[in-house]
Amino acid sequence: MATCPYCLSAIEKKSNICHNCGAERGYISLLSKVRGALFIVAWGILAPIILDVILVLLVNNIVIVVFMSFAFFAIILFSVYKLTCGTAWYR
Ligand SMILES: [Zn+2]
Repeated sequence: MATCPYCLSAIEKKSNICHNCGAERGYISLLSKVRGALFIVAWGILAPIILDVILVLLVNNIVIVVFMSFAFFAIILFSVYKLTCGTAWYR
């Protein structure tokens, strides 16, 4: 048994939601929705890589490509960091 950090009620270990106060466990809270590891891998790592490849193929402006590559790289780093931090409770 785990306890909810917000209302201190007991939560089943496998459960990712507190039925008492609605707090959710996940890796990140985005637009008031709590997201799991799959979301981070898909949108925080795979999507930036794919977008960057498309950018390199389609855009001939090296400044834009380099700038966007750094931006995507920052997103990927942030995602990996979030994954290594583990889950947290959000409400
Ligand atoms: Zn709670």
